[in-house]
Amino acid sequence: MEWQARALVNAAGPWAASFLRDTVVSAHGEALATRQLRLVKGSHIVVPRLFDHAHAYLFQNPDRRIVFAIPYERDFTLIGTTDVELHGDPGDAVASEAEIAYLCEQVSRYFARPVVPGDVRWSYAGVRPLLDEADGDEASAVTRDYLLETHADGAPLLTVWGGKITTFRKLAEEAAGAIGRLLGDERAAWTASAVLPGGDLSAWTGMPPGTPAEDFERFVKALGHRHAWLPTPLALRLARAYGTRATDWLGEARCLDDLGLEIAPGLHEAELAHLQRDEWAVTADDALWRRSKLGLHLDARQRAGVSDWFAARTGA
Ligand SMILES: Cc1cc2nc3c(=O)[nH]c(=O)nc-3n(C[C@H](O)[C@H](O)[C@H](O)COP(=O)(O)OP(=O)(O)OC[C@H]3O[C@@H](n4cnc5c(N)ncnc54)[C@H](O)[C@@H]3O)c2cc1C
Repeated sequence: MEWQARALVNAAGPWAASFLRDTVVSAHGEALATRQLRLVKGSHIVVPRLFDHAHAYLFQNPDRRIVFAIPYERDFTLIGTTDVELHGDPGDAVASEAEIAYLCEQVSRYFARPVVPGDVRWSYAGVRPLLDEADGDEASAVTRDYLLETHADGAPLLTVWGGKITTFRKLAEEAAGAIGRLLGDERAAWTASAVLPGGDLSAWTGMPPGTPAEDFERFVKALGHRHAWLPTPLALRLARAYGTRATDWLGEARCLDDLGLEIAPGLHEAELAHLQRDEWAVTADDALWRRSKLGLHLDARQRAGVSDWFAARTGA
């Protein structure tokens, strides 16, 4: 498939350097990957709930690192993380046995009951793309958590180096500004007071905005009122996962049967169709692990049912 665009934004995270090196062709053959990324794997484990309150723990380890234990998906505790230099393909990163043992050992120093690898229900690893300080040109570039680099020689190109979720909005605002300048099409920033998709809770309920917790509680109540046939735990889950966007695909449904077949407990076709259509889920893993963590609450047979649904719809 061939695409044409007025500009290219390289936001490939851990692949940002290899994408420039291996995929992008520069106008005059010059190297575009001017920065080095240090790839640092961080692994996490999920175990059955270790405590029954809503607070998070941060534990200090003897190796001067910290690990956290956070309430997760109602029934679980999320424990992370590690820092392991990665030299291979970020796509192959998984939580190793050694990392799982390390995380269990560290939190077991604090909890009354030890956590052992056999408790682990699920694990995952992410790869941090850290700007390599040793090779940075300017000291200021490495003291920031992200760096935007533009190339105007040839097709406009913007590369995002590094980054954090906490600064995603500022990063995106600056990136959009930089691309606008490259294209001669600058526009006013607008995201500072915008809500995320589905986050317009008080507008939906018609109540004056309160605290986020108050707005959410009112929204759950209003959603339950509008769809009184929704079981309360399901209404709560949908409100939490989708906010007001749940109301798009709940539509005019008047009973659970109107949501289509129940493919897995509490997971109906209408929700999967929404994930597929509006959140670009292509496989069961996208729906169960990437767009949600529903996979944690289902057994292998139920997850297979979701795979079958996707296979029937997409061949995936
Ligand atoms: C273990 C760990 C812990 C973290 N902890 C925190 C934290 O506590 N606080 C915080 O704020 N941030 C944290 N972060 C950082 C945060 O997760 C990242 O900053 C954020 O995910 C970056 O988002 P992104 O969309 O820029 O990049 P990514 O989420 O890395 O996405 C890059 C995307 O590009 C895609 N891609 C790659 N190559 C191509 C290609 N050729 N064509 C098309 N697509 C491509 C990839 O598939 C991927 O989906 C952590 C990261 C890790 C790994």
